[in-house]
Amino acid sequence: MTTIPPDHGRSWWLREALAQPEFAGDPCPPLTSDTTADVVILGGGYTGMWTAWFVLERDPSCDIVLLEADELCGSGPSGRNGGFCYGVWEDIETLVRFFGDDDALRVAHAAHRSVSEIEAWLDAQGVDAWFTRAGHLTIATAPAQDGAWEPLVAEASRLGVADGRFVELDAGAVRARCDAPVFRSGLLQPDNAVLQPARLALGLREALLARGVRIYEGSPVARFAQGPPVRVETRDGGVVTAERGVLGLGAWASSLPAFRRSIVPRGTYIVVTEPAPERLAQIGWTGGEGLADWRTALRYFRATPDGRIAFGAASAAAGIGVGLGPRLRYDERSIVKLVDDFYRFFPSWRDVAIEAAWGGPMDVTGRHLPSFGTLPAGTIHYGLGYTGGGVGPCHLGGKVLSALALGISDEHTSLPLVDLEMLRFPPEPLRSVGAALTQRAIVRKDEAEDRGQRAGPLTTLVAKMPRRMGYELGP
Ligand SMILES: Cc1cc2nc3c(=O)[nH]c(=O)nc-3n(C[C@H](O)[C@H](O)[C@H](O)COP(=O)(O)OP(=O)(O)OC[C@H]3O[C@@H](n4cnc5c(N)ncnc54)[C@H](O)[C@@H]3O)c2cc1C
Repeated sequence: MTTIPPDHGRSWWLREALAQPEFAGDPCPPLTSDTTADVVILGGGYTGMWTAWFVLERDPSCDIVLLEADELCGSGPSGRNGGFCYGVWEDIETLVRFFGDDDALRVAHAAHRSVSEIEAWLDAQGVDAWFTRAGHLTIATAPAQDGAWEPLVAEASRLGVADGRFVELDAGAVRARCDAPVFRSGLLQPDNAVLQPARLALGLREALLARGVRIYEGSPVARFAQGPPVRVETRDGGVVTAERGVLGLGAWASSLPAFRRSIVPRGTYIVVTEPAPERLAQIGWTGGEGLADWRTALRYFRATPDGRIAFGAASAAAGIGVGLGPRLRYDERSIVKLVDDFYRFFPSWRDVAIEAAWGGPMDVTGRHLPSFGTLPAGTIHYGLGYTGGGVGPCHLGGKVLSALALGISDEHTSLPLVDLEMLRFPPEPLRSVGAALTQRAIVRKDEAEDRGQRAGPLTTLVAKMPRRMGYELGP
């Protein structure tokens, strides 16, 4: 019988960061009165905070108000994620399909630059977010996943992407980096990094406060009007009137009419073990690589400097058809499955306890790509839809949204992710029913493949339905 830790409310990352005085910071009480600003930002995740940062980089005199619903910025996915920091190179085939070769490469290069720029920002600000650029290794963990990366590598090679961006490793080379019995061959992206996500979020929060951004936490926005001027009302009676607004609401944007058909929230969960550095050494995983597998509902895992493993998966059905309820932060069924998978992957860790578990919502789009744009009145800009891959791309989002908010056109606002029409999902109840059915089929397919079997034709057909319908989702 597996014991799993209770819901601590916050991710282990956030609790770890808050235990350090340099990240604990001063509280930012809720907004309860009327105020004005040049730019009002809704949402205190990476998108909202990087936007504030880059607005001030471009115009240090800009007066910014940031409203965060939770009691602390970074309490959402930005302080709950796996900490894998990369761009969108893995989506290069999708980018080519939608934008053609040149624009696809432009997006991939722009997004990847954020990895180095985040590293440089952390250095410059003196924020220790455990940034480790040891590569991202994606591994086949079942025969059905063998060589799954070949089309990606072939496309990169056709596009003339530099040798060394993707490096194929045989099973021996994979297991020399991390020796787990289920590991087969894999694909290394040496230039990717991992970091402590909540330390990045809280480091950003501190840097913004130091620069004079007025942050109000515990201030959920109840409604806003596009104006002009933009008018934003919080649940507790605060009102902000501003020239421009920016939405960095992640999955919560799905409750707004403008995005109801284009964003689906979906849960993903992480467990973290006690420290066991000697076990990491035993399996040879001392290089700091971020690891994942090639399952459709992928598993992702990385180590921490004190010798823990954080192990996550996107296989949960929570979120689909149930809105943004508490199960997206903690779902016992998903977590029990995750713990079973963890010990199957790392049997030599069976006596190492799981210390914490949590989840969060991904903001899934039909294109599997983020979108940036402007609502019809021209006063409110949005950035969302990172679909589980926003740690690096939210930094690019901050550059795009800061330019849009200040009315600047540049190489970021000309990227094809800007003003891109979002693919629409079917209306309810079709959307929830369809999503639940395909999700179940994907899990069945993945589980059959984990056992070394092939899923039946009906399961495969249903799992592939989203792609047949033109979405970049599923197998
Ligand atoms: C468990 C998990 C693991 C992940 N792992 C990775 C990974 O390893 N690598 C990677 O690249 N990506 C990962 N992601 C995705 C990544 O975390 C997100 O793409 C990224 O954090 C999105 O940032 P954001 O600022 O756009 O949105 P969020 O971080 O979701 O921030 C939105 C904020 O808006 C606030 N808000 C909501 N409603 C309101 C309101 N009405 N008023 C005011 N504020 C409001 C929320 O409280 C939240 O703080 C993961 C996500 C999850 C959930």
